[in-house]
Amino acid sequence: MRVESLGAALTVTGSAHLLSTRDGPVLIDCGLFQGGEELEARNREPFPFDAADLLAVVVTHAHLDHIGRLPLLVKRGYRGPVYCTPPTAALAEAVLLDSARLQVEGFRQDLRRARRVGREAEVPEPLYDEEDVHRTLALLRPALHYGERAQVGPLKVTAERAGHILGSAYLVIEVEGQRLLMSGDLGNRESGLQLTFTPPPPVDAVMIETTYANRIHRSREATLAEFRDILHQSIRAGGKILIPTFAIERAQMILYILRNMMEAGEVPRIPIFLDSPLAARATGDYFEFGDELIPPVREALQSGEDPFRPSTLHVVLTSTESQRINRYDGPAIIMAGSGMMNGGRIQHHLKHNLWKPSTSLVIASYQSPGSLGGRIVAGESPVHILGEEIIVRAHVHTIGGFSAHADQDDLLAFLSTTGTPRVWLIHGEVPAMEEFLPVLAQRGLTGNIMPDHQEVDLLTTTFPAGRPPGLPESHEDARASAGGE
Ligand SMILES: [Zn+2]
Repeated sequence: MRVESLGAALTVTGSAHLLSTRDGPVLIDCGLFQGGEELEARNREPFPFDAADLLAVVVTHAHLDHIGRLPLLVKRGYRGPVYCTPPTAALAEAVLLDSARLQVEGFRQDLRRARRVGREAEVPEPLYDEEDVHRTLALLRPALHYGERAQVGPLKVTAERAGHILGSAYLVIEVEGQRLLMSGDLGNRESGLQLTFTPPPPVDAVMIETTYANRIHRSREATLAEFRDILHQSIRAGGKILIPTFAIERAQMILYILRNMMEAGEVPRIPIFLDSPLAARATGDYFEFGDELIPPVREALQSGEDPFRPSTLHVVLTSTESQRINRYDGPAIIMAGSGMMNGGRIQHHLKHNLWKPSTSLVIASYQSPGSLGGRIVAGESPVHILGEEIIVRAHVHTIGGFSAHADQDDLLAFLSTTGTPRVWLIHGEVPAMEEFLPVLAQRGLTGNIMPDHQEVDLLTTTFPAGRPPGLPESHEDARASAGGE
């Protein structure tokens, strides 16, 4: 059972894992590296295989760090099927088109700047454009349904509910008489929208995400109380409440919570600006696949209510409208992407508000160490935003319990039904994985940290103390900024 990780190895983003079979290679996920220039430069590296040689591609869910390099794969010659669940296919369309738009806009902006210094020849082409995305969408095969075995190239693959975002799946892959479980991203068992992951069957090897493998989230109740307190404090301070928001899942979850809190009279009905056309569009998919969601949300949808629409919601579509929010006086909630603050409309809101002590910045999702969000969480001030130096005077609040990811307890609960597989740690920062290794050992499981761009046999390869050779020493900054409290 030979796998080479080409992303989400020793880091969180860029998920891509190449599984070798007797008949040829199959790729699982093809995500974008996100969070800082150094990581994002990796998106331009060539794939260490010929795209046309792949027998099939499977994707676990529609987050950009799991599907964002698919159009690049197609641009480089892949023409085969891309298997996923039906909600993933629906979300992927909006996510990839938005990504292409950002790529092209970023390219034009860089080009404008480079022209002024006569260096336009040095600006790299956009990774892909809308046309590449349309070619990719044509390859999507929404043939994976929870609990059903499907033929994927030479493999039998069963997708099961991962409880992370709409349509998210983990995969049980039968390969040459052995069973491999690929976790994709696993959900927080106290998710505000998703049903809990299905307990997995016994398997021979597991590749498991470790985003929060060294953390325990606060309970749902404590998290909601924390959020309520932050809102009250922030409204008293009179400024803007900025919530950098991943457009898929986090946006819908926060809207649902705000609506409940406002309806119950727990927080004042202040304006909410959802400054994300992608989030607004993705919310439509939550309607379409409402049966997938937890009972209160499902029931609200069935009775014709819109659980994602607080009465004070303004959906901001154009960038002119987005700019106009700056002129709005008084407390208001602004939800905008990108989630790690590295780009997108959140940047101009940060530029206009981060330096004001009345502003609250509420961080409700993972921030990679090199991202703008990661640096703000680590206490950096001033920070560079849109070519200006901005001092951080805003109150910065981190709410770990809103995470859509499993924490350590969730991961252990997940592994409790898998028998005693060999466990390979992926999709995490090295310090989180290092802290998780002894916890696995206590439970009689052999864990190894998956190396980057190095093929291993999941059933036989072993590293001393679970650490692959050449692994850099732990980065303290990674520990500090892993998005948590
Ligand atoms: Zn994800």
